[in-house]
Amino acid sequence: MKSYRKELWFNVPTRRGFINITHQVEECLKESGVKEGLVLVNAMHITASVFINDNESGLHNDFDVWLEKLAPHEPVSQYRHNNGEDNADAHLKRQVMGREVIVAITNGRLDFGPWEQIFYGEFDGRRKKRVLVKIIGE
Ligand code: ZN
Repeated sequence: MKSYRKELWFNVPTRRGFINITHQVEECLKESGVKEGLVLVNAMHITASVFINDNESGLHNDFDVWLEKLAPHEPVSQYRHNNGEDNADAHLKRQVMGREVIVAITNGRLDFGPWEQIFYGEFDGRRKKRVLVKIIGE
């Protein structure tokens, strides 16, 4: 069995943002040489997410508005976690949007359903953060 590991680094200049990382995961898959197997992609930080959905900017705006309604950043005093921090909302947003995705690899390609793309979701940006890509298979 082949095994491949890579860390992807991001530094989102704003507090929140979504980045399409599908191409980078495809590059990892090429490097791995795996034709049949699984790829795991996970955020290595508890205030960021990796998720699969549509590559459509209106939807990304909808996610941001919806998450901000569920867990508004302000006022930061509303959260007990914000005891010297201001990122409680980012932890809650990450929990809703998820930690990781797993995608099947078939014939050397990511075996997506219609319109599926992989995104990094940042909820407490303006610093360097990592995503882990782990690929196993033959
Ligand atoms: Zn925190």
